[in-house]
Amino acid sequence: MSETDLTTAPGLEAWIARGREMAEREDRARAVARGRRFDTIAVHGLYDHLAAAANQGAIIEPAYLAPAQHFADSEELEAALGYLMPAWGYTRIANPTTHYLEETLALLEAYGTGLTAATVATGSGMAAVHLATNALLAADPARPGAVPNLVASAKCYGGTFMLFSARYAAERGIDVRWVADPLDADAWAAAIDGDTRFLYAEVPSNPAVAVVDIPALAALAHGHGIPLLVDATVATPACLRPLGLGADVVIHSLSKAIGGSGLAIAGAVTARHDIPARVGPDELRADFATHLKLLPGRDLGPALSPSSALALLSDLRTLRPRMDAWSRSTLAVAEFLEAHSAVARVWYPGLASHPGHAVAARDFSLADGDAEGRPVARYGSLLAFTLKGGLPAARSMYDRLSLVFRATDLGRVKSVATIPSISTHQQQGEEGRATADIDEGLIRLSVGGEHPDDVIADLAQALDLG
Ligand SMILES: *Cc1c(COP(=O)(O)O)cnc(C)c1O
Repeated sequence: MSETDLTTAPGLEAWIARGREMAEREDRARAVARGRRFDTIAVHGLYDHLAAAANQGAIIEPAYLAPAQHFADSEELEAALGYLMPAWGYTRIANPTTHYLEETLALLEAYGTGLTAATVATGSGMAAVHLATNALLAADPARPGAVPNLVASAKCYGGTFMLFSARYAAERGIDVRWVADPLDADAWAAAIDGDTRFLYAEVPSNPAVAVVDIPALAALAHGHGIPLLVDATVATPACLRPLGLGADVVIHSLSKAIGGSGLAIAGAVTARHDIPARVGPDELRADFATHLKLLPGRDLGPALSPSSALALLSDLRTLRPRMDAWSRSTLAVAEFLEAHSAVARVWYPGLASHPGHAVAARDFSLADGDAEGRPVARYGSLLAFTLKGGLPAARSMYDRLSLVFRATDLGRVKSVATIPSISTHQQQGEEGRATADIDEGLIRLSVGGEHPDDVIADLAQALDLG
């Protein structure tokens, strides 16, 4: 990233000093970005006129596909690989294109909170869940023989359920404590003890669109000196910013609404600075995301492809207007379904009938509000429903969809539906689905960017079960 005159190659100290200048320049760019509105940050991030000048004037962030960075001399190599100066070195650890994505995400996640946050991007959402949680489950030398545990909402993504129950509990003996009703504060409190490493919740959850009381859970976690991790994939920072509500770490599958046009599989971990944690070095607490990036990420290797980072940067620019429109369409579809005679029940946090509606109405807010800047809640593009005829009726209506795609996907610009019990949550088995409270006839619908009337018309014809 630096231009160097080889004939006057400076020594290690000079490289470190140059690194300090580079870091200060980025700090200034961050401070400028923080003074801007959500959409402006989403469009520009840290890629300013100076950054463009260093990239042949390109107004769009360039794709740095090179695996490695050339260094001017051995001392720059030494300073860079020793993490003594900002550099990217090798794409498994860092990459300039990915860096722009990470910086934009960190700014959006901390938007309006006054907090400082950092982000590490990963090659999938599951890689993000793994990277963040694995680091907190390390053996504690101060408590030899102790079995670490985690406390998690059972209403979570099937992949997360399998990571925790199959990989962590069954293979590694970690004590995974599921909370069946994530709105039950007493159940969370009762599960925590001296070996609990973190609390984990999804808001809203996939597929049940359950919510949790983030401020209450954060207070509970902090009282025990442990962090609260929130997977906010379905909400995105346009609708919900968990760090501002007290959460320490936010996890995203960027494959979903953030990358709504569907060109990449990716994930991200964003953390506020100075999180509480019972294990790990001081650097882990001071800047969790950067620690994950530089050490566990380097060694475990879940890096994101820079081509994907660029596709995601492109989608991120329109996140807020997209989530505003998709959320309004989803509410219209939810209201249509709730009024339909063949439908047994609809789950959508924006409906008054949702058990978490009051909590969601308090915590969800579209960044920068409505067109007049008035505060307004938007609840994302995911809903779930059951039919009076159970699974057979669900299959029959599902097979009749002619616009909505049948796919295990969500947050997509194209509406998609799935039946979790026979797809995404099949691997959990009946017992796992009972833990997560997933009705076998549940249909999960992700509403996209089509005109809502066309989505409703497709559902109406499919529901005409004859
Ligand atoms: C899809 C999803 C994940 C996993 O993301 P991938 O990018 O598919 O690995 C994690 N959490 C939630 C809530 C999801 O919907």
